[in-house]
Amino acid sequence: MRIRLSLWMMLFLTFILILSTTILFYYFKKGTVESLEIRLINWSDNISLAIAENPAAFRDNPASFIYSATHNEFISGSVLVQFMDRKGHLLAKSPSLMTNDLPYQKGQDNLLQDVHFSDGLRLKCYQDKLIVNRHIWGYIIVAIPITQTYHNLTRLRDLMIIVMCGTVIILGIGIHTLVNVNILQNQKLFLSFASHELRTPLAIILGHSEVALRHPHTEEDYRTTLALIQNEADWMSRLVSNLLFVFRSQSGTEILKKKSFDFGELVAESASTIKTLYPHKKMTLTLPNNATLIGDQDRLRQVVNNLVENAAKNTPENGLITLTLAETPKLLVFEVKDNGVGIEKKKQKKIFNAFYRVDENTKGGMGLGLAISQWIVKRHKGKIEVKSILGEGSVFTVSLPKGALP
Ligand code: ADP
Repeated sequence: MRIRLSLWMMLFLTFILILSTTILFYYFKKGTVESLEIRLINWSDNISLAIAENPAAFRDNPASFIYSATHNEFISGSVLVQFMDRKGHLLAKSPSLMTNDLPYQKGQDNLLQDVHFSDGLRLKCYQDKLIVNRHIWGYIIVAIPITQTYHNLTRLRDLMIIVMCGTVIILGIGIHTLVNVNILQNQKLFLSFASHELRTPLAIILGHSEVALRHPHTEEDYRTTLALIQNEADWMSRLVSNLLFVFRSQSGTEILKKKSFDFGELVAESASTIKTLYPHKKMTLTLPNNATLIGDQDRLRQVVNNLVENAAKNTPENGLITLTLAETPKLLVFEVKDNGVGIEKKKQKKIFNAFYRVDENTKGGMGLGLAISQWIVKRHKGKIEVKSILGEGSVFTVSLPKGALP
């Protein structure tokens, strides 16, 4: 259960990490590209402005505006400029373009596009109209190489993926360690509980066998002693198997066996067993015609036995136990009602915790039955609930999907 929980936690954190890294990268890339585009538009506007201020100079020598008009950074060879006339004929272009021309789209303005040249060069281009005295004189196209920018973005993406994988691995190790610490803590709890709970029956067994062996006794005395020893050994055996079950369920190694069976039969069997053990308790039983379920029969028998026996243990002589099994199209709902001692409100949640007992001094209780029952019911994708009033009685309800076990 815990392993499954940590796996889900791990998947959830990985998902969040992938999502946040992707969003971060997307916005960083968008920002980088947008700032390039804004710079291109500014360059184009600066050149257009310089031409509008001195149209005669542009008419005489358009090439001179490739270098002089912007007074700033685009003098650097990395910015490419190209002028076209109104009909789309080339007027001038940056010499570093050599045999290449910047792409011209007939009649377009405010046009941003990415261009790949066959020599591997990648450019971001911006095309705009050249307007002088409200007349279209031609077109300006400015461009900037973006090969390096995209290369850097790819490197950043790879780096983010590596960091993300590293974080997922560290997270995994962290969660795994936490789970192990938890299991170890549980192991400690088991050990202290087991040693504490096994001490009394062991002392009884040792004490009685010692007395029996010291002097000769009648056959009747030996029988009484052996019955006592058997009783204590039986309790110890149940305790050990319950502890093993809790430990296996918590470490994820308990496997359920799936099969189709009649849950009603199982309830009837349990009712008759408990009735034999507690003959003075009144018991009523209501079953539907068909209560077929797919699940682990032995484990579900454990749940039913535990609930019915708890009801019997916690009702006075002549107390009434009402067992009802009802059927809905998808669910089987099993209810165990008693008119016994009831459970205080604040203790009702705690009774499902392993080792919790309402009265620590009650002989025979291990505080494991409901914890185990809850685990089994949850593994069948079902629910176990309690409603109780102190001094009036309790109702335990188990709802089980009919075909729950995967
Ligand atoms: P135990 O083996 O000690 O009964 P459980 O896990 O089955 O352990 O039950 C936990 C506690 O819940 C018990 O100490 C018991 O007092 C209380 N309890 C369980 N069922 C009932 C009930 N029907 N009425 C009153 N108390 C109950």
